[in-house]
Amino acid sequence: MLDFDIDDDFQAELDWADDFVRREVEPLDQLINHAWDLSDPLRQELIPPLQQQVRDRGLWATHLGPELGGPGYGQVKLALLNEILGRSHCAPIVFGCQAPDSGNAEILAHYGTDELKARYLEPLLRNEIVSSFSMTEPQGGSDPTQFIVRAELDGDEWVVNGEKWFSSHANFASFLITLAVTDPDATAHNRMSMFVIPADTPGVNILRNVPVYGHTDGGTHSYIRYEDVRVPADHLLGVRGQGFVVAQTRLGGGRIHHAMRTVGLVKRALDMMCERALSRTTKGELLARKQLVQAMIAESWIEIEQFRLLVLRTAWRIDKYNDYRRVLGDISAVKVAMPKVLHDVAARALQIHGSLGVSDEMPLAAWVLESFHMGLADGATEVHKTTLARQLLKSYSGTDDLFPTAHLPKLRAAAEAKHADALARHGGPSKRH
Ligand SMILES: Cc1cc2nc3c(=O)[nH]c(=O)nc-3n(C[C@H](O)[C@H](O)[C@H](O)COP(=O)(O)OP(=O)(O)OC[C@H]3O[C@@H](n4cnc5c(N)ncnc54)[C@H](O)[C@@H]3O)c2cc1C
Repeated sequence: MLDFDIDDDFQAELDWADDFVRREVEPLDQLINHAWDLSDPLRQELIPPLQQQVRDRGLWATHLGPELGGPGYGQVKLALLNEILGRSHCAPIVFGCQAPDSGNAEILAHYGTDELKARYLEPLLRNEIVSSFSMTEPQGGSDPTQFIVRAELDGDEWVVNGEKWFSSHANFASFLITLAVTDPDATAHNRMSMFVIPADTPGVNILRNVPVYGHTDGGTHSYIRYEDVRVPADHLLGVRGQGFVVAQTRLGGGRIHHAMRTVGLVKRALDMMCERALSRTTKGELLARKQLVQAMIAESWIEIEQFRLLVLRTAWRIDKYNDYRRVLGDISAVKVAMPKVLHDVAARALQIHGSLGVSDEMPLAAWVLESFHMGLADGATEVHKTTLARQLLKSYSGTDDLFPTAHLPKLRAAAEAKHADALARHGGPSKRH
């Protein structure tokens, strides 16, 4: 049956993580430019010792099974842990579950040869290297059937040509997981294949790292031109022409993991909102006494809890079915809800902080903008709404009748026919229409 309790043992782990993130990890967010940048000596001095503490505690990469070095806690426990990690830029990497590496690791674990696993997966899981996922193209991301980056077989090598857009962290990555057209004449969803491409392969040219509003990291979303990039034939992952299937291996998990972390971020925004409301006085009373401010706090809490329950239920269904295809609609629902809850709660927190709220001395304006990131990365909100609707519609059918099934006169006639004897005894229905 339903049980919202967390078992004592795991609660102890969450309490440890909560304290550890607050005390040791959050301060690093103020000092380290980008936690994925392994060339930053400050990062290399401060983060690995924390990662070791997480490993010693048994909380490293909790989404992975023991065969990949994690405890295999599953998605529900990961959701609870990610609520804590989502508060901090550095925390996911300190706990070994950062995007896009976690999803890329899933792809390599499923589809990589032993040699590729030894070369890329193992160091990736130890965070000795980081990676990038290179799918979106500059002419349009929402419709992957328009992608044109091409991979052609030449002897025992694939030669990749074309441009990819917004390949996050490619500037830090040791390898890229790249989608390319291998079979241009096949049907729309059987034309592309997934590749692992070492980032130092000649021809992997980063044109620029695109900065985004609200981030101060100098740009980490790479615009890449692949120019005659040659990789060995075994760098194709999965079945030739089935790149979309391979992509889904990572996208399902990636989307829900973002959502789990977003729960942490919006809770932090609510904490800030409440603290400010209890600290700032206007017209002789605290902001917290103003009913319009109270409404903002109440609405934020309700929206966060609704979102959190949807995330947890989806995580529970992933654990239950172990098949992302069965939770496609649930994940799309989470993905649609995520930017809205972040936008609305962060915007209210910003408003309650007044001018300080819009300033760069608070993170709130960046979080409002981050909500647009959430509504685009891993698929635009509109696309996920249609995915969800299509899934829902599968369990319905239309009626051939002129009037709907729920048409009241029709229901009434059916009920009268069913209970004709009783109606005759009592002189008709007691309900008047
Ligand atoms: C911060 C960030 C990080 C990212 N990281 C990566 C990454 O690491 N790797 C990677 O490959 N990509 C990445 N992306 C790209 C992301 O996947 C794309 O932005 C996304 O798929 C949308 O593609 P687009 O930006 O080309 O928008 P477009 O496809 O041009 O869509 C623009 C808008 O059109 C509307 N629209 C599109 N399709 C529909 C539809 N079917 N119905 C109704 N309206 C529609 C929506 O409003 C949509 O927002 C990242 C994006 C962001 C913002």
